[in-house]
Amino acid sequence: MSTFSNAEHSDSQDFQKKPLRAYVRRFWRPFALGTSTLALTNLFDILTPFALMKAIDAISEGNRINLQNAIFLYIGFMFGAVCFRHQWRIHFGRFHHSVAEDIRNRLFEKYTQLGPGFFEKNPTGELMSLMINDVNTFRMAVGPALLILLDAFFLILFIVPFMLSISVEWTWKTMILLPFVPFIIRFMENRIAKAGRESQDRLAEMSGFSQELISGMRVVKGFAQEAYRQIAFRIFAAKYANSSNVVAKYDAFFEPALQIGIATGSVILLAWGSKDVLSGAVTLGTFVAFHEYIKRMIWPMAAIGSGLSLIQQGRASYSRISTVLATEPEVVDRGVEPLENFNRLEVKDLSFTYPGAAQPALRNLSFSLHKGEILGIVGPVGSGKSTLVQLLGRVRLAPENTIFVNGLPFEKYKLTDWRSRLAIAPQDTFLFSRTVQDNILFGHDATELQDSSEALITADAVAIREELERLPLGFQAWLGEKGVNLSGGQRQRLTIARALAHTSERRAHPADIIVLDDSLSAVDGKTASTILDALKCEKTAIIVSHRIAAVRHANKIIVLNDGEIEGIGTHFELLSTSPTYLRISQLQGNRALSGAEVGTTL
Ligand code: ADP
Ligand code: MG
Repeated sequence: MSTFSNAEHSDSQDFQKKPLRAYVRRFWRPFALGTSTLALTNLFDILTPFALMKAIDAISEGNRINLQNAIFLYIGFMFGAVCFRHQWRIHFGRFHHSVAEDIRNRLFEKYTQLGPGFFEKNPTGELMSLMINDVNTFRMAVGPALLILLDAFFLILFIVPFMLSISVEWTWKTMILLPFVPFIIRFMENRIAKAGRESQDRLAEMSGFSQELISGMRVVKGFAQEAYRQIAFRIFAAKYANSSNVVAKYDAFFEPALQIGIATGSVILLAWGSKDVLSGAVTLGTFVAFHEYIKRMIWPMAAIGSGLSLIQQGRASYSRISTVLATEPEVVDRGVEPLENFNRLEVKDLSFTYPGAAQPALRNLSFSLHKGEILGIVGPVGSGKSTLVQLLGRVRLAPENTIFVNGLPFEKYKLTDWRSRLAIAPQDTFLFSRTVQDNILFGHDATELQDSSEALITADAVAIREELERLPLGFQAWLGEKGVNLSGGQRQRLTIARALAHTSERRAHPADIIVLDDSLSAVDGKTASTILDALKCEKTAIIVSHRIAAVRHANKIIVLNDGEIEGIGTHFELLSTSPTYLRISQLQGNRALSGAEVGTTL
């Protein structure tokens, strides 16, 4: 995958407004080669009936020498057409595939920049379809569609003079119906495209349904839903089949329509032209050549219809693509200050409301965290803990001048500089379909990946090493769809390991703050205490948990309730100042304090 230089970015306005012109300019070499070889192909193609004419006339005259020459001429023209046809396919292919590659890269880059707000609005299926189907439709418009229009242009340009040179009268009489062909074809093509889109939607529906069911097959079985789901699937499958049949129905008109066009021209020629041959005014060879030209004219006429229709579809697809490309990320990186080391974090009067939400998720939060401290955040489900973590990570947009790092508003720093100070284990334990080791060392760069021992060390720290080594391929076991599926607790520990590896002192520029967002909820108490012990050796940590035991030893604990800070303090301070803290503590307290669940270190 290529990344774009600034120079390429500066002309992105051009790409938004006039994509075809911009791409022709950018990939002008294959475009120019494709166009010129196409013109040459057409020229040779048009010359072959001319050689045929000479040959037939030589046969009629019984002139062997002329016949021989005509055959050589014919072979020469055919050979020229064959060679150049092979060439334009290669060059033009290179042109439109380069265009598609470039747009896909732009889209992927955009996807990586956009925040969670965008992905909540646009389902994955649609974003994938944009990258695959819409890019392809646009590619068809700048490739094959443009090509057939050029093809038609050259053919008409070359054929018509030949036809006129044979007979002006024949020409207008046989071609009188041809101008209607593009309209008919375009009408049909648009019908086909509409049916095609419909069919694509049905396909997406069907695959979405089956994909979900395949992932959730255990639930299907658990609730004895097999038969019902089969019926539902049959309906989706039938809808898709029907929509494909509609496409086939329109498609079926295409060839016969062209044949009628050719046949009409031939009949007119036979009816009007034959008498000129009989009277000896025109040779038989000329008559045959003219007939060849009629056959060749029908294609460019149809091509104009198809080409215009494809271009229309390409426009629609490009407007969907460019809407996404023009979407501004929620969090725009305008920071210029470099950030080398973390010293202190201050949050001042931070409030946050999700776009479209009636209630703020966070209200007037103020607190601070110094290097080396452990900050605990507790609170009931929905109190805003994960929202706060996402704001701190600049994944979502916090209001300006509410979060300060080393005394400066954190939006003043380069986005990646601040983000790479953090090692976050998010609440949803997303792991990639890669090996265990690749997942743990996800944040490492190529040189750091040379040393795989880091994966073992962090796996030890989160007490998962033995379990991983028992897997068939150990740390090389492939996770995800076709590999090993881990338990919820194992997934959590792997995401913690991934964050820990990110803060490793052995890295060139390790992250400073480790953030665990409810990462111990599915981990048993004893294991949790081992992990928390490992964290104590860390420099700075933010531990979000609904479990008092996980935050008890933090230097400072924030109690969040309904988006507000209900109390800040140490464990013992909060027991007397925060009713929520006391209540949660009492619910879990006896067990936690007895040490039976979480071990004595807590
Ligand atoms: P916690 O992590 O403490 O369980 P969250 O931060 O996830 O709580 O959620 C806080 C509040 O914000 C909840 O009321 C929740 O419904 C709302 N919320 C969370 N995520 C979104 C979202 N993506 N869009 C809109 N509202 C959200
Ligand atoms: Mg949460």
